[in-house]
Amino acid sequence: MSLKGKVAIITGARRGMGRAHALALARAGAKAVVSDISLADCKKVVKEIEKAEGQALAVQCDVTKQGEVNKMVEAAVKEWGKVDILVNNAGIAQFCPFLEMTEEIWDRTLAINLKGYFLCAQAAAKQMAKQKSGVIVNIASVAMGQQGIGFPNIAHYCASKGGIVGLTEALAIELAPYNIRVNAVAPGMIETPMIASIKQDKKALAGLLARVPLQRVGRPEEVSRLVLFLASDDSSYMTGSTVVIDGGWLAG
Ligand code: NAP
Repeated sequence: MSLKGKVAIITGARRGMGRAHALALARAGAKAVVSDISLADCKKVVKEIEKAEGQALAVQCDVTKQGEVNKMVEAAVKEWGKVDILVNNAGIAQFCPFLEMTEEIWDRTLAINLKGYFLCAQAAAKQMAKQKSGVIVNIASVAMGQQGIGFPNIAHYCASKGGIVGLTEALAIELAPYNIRVNAVAPGMIETPMIASIKQDKKALAGLLARVPLQRVGRPEEVSRLVLFLASDDSSYMTGSTVVIDGGWLAG
């Protein structure tokens, strides 16, 4: 799966899965725009990529701010002339019982996990439409709904991830005439700082793993291989799909 000559933007890439996706895409030959709120951490990921003979650029971007999102796309175009791939990855998961959920907690999650995806997809797609080609990969979650499994204490997160699936399908139709493909990835439990609190609670972790046929959490690189496939021409007939990668959780 070669991405030689392609330019890829990855949001929320200072750590966790975003970092893994940036490393994987760069290893496949893409020039990677490593973006996140912390520029210093993005620069560290860029150094890792460069150490492996890849090309990368660190860009500070809060995905909830349209001005910063537009500047991120402009930075890619200024440096390398185009944007071929967007991996919409930046997200948060703040546990909170529904009856205690404040408007502020709800709004913050939806602003990052859903509005952020809209802003980044639109800014990138405007550039991709000019090029008459592009790929968007949206990171959803098994907590996206419609799967017969509900997830308590993260109602706002579930609403945002379900929204991403709807967004993906709508954009697949609207952007197909511009030769832009849009797909989503729905990971199960993946070993990143996001699940640190679950991992600390051995009983909760055991309870969750009991529902996962492969009996373990996934590794970021395992998800990166799927992202790489969806970002590459190897998935040229796929658009509007949501691909689950969860160790069998939703099948259980
Ligand atoms: P992570 O390690 O917490 O990484 C998420 C990154 O997004 C962090 O670097 C975070 O920065 C950044 N971010 C947060 N708000 C942002 C904003 N407004 N603008 C730009 N960047 C922002 O989490 P992860 O597990 O790698 O998650 C990556 C994606 O996968 C998320 O969309 C998540 O919902 C999804 N996912 C994760 C799992 C899992 O089990 N880990 C499962 C299913 C789906 P800060 O650290 O500074 O906040």
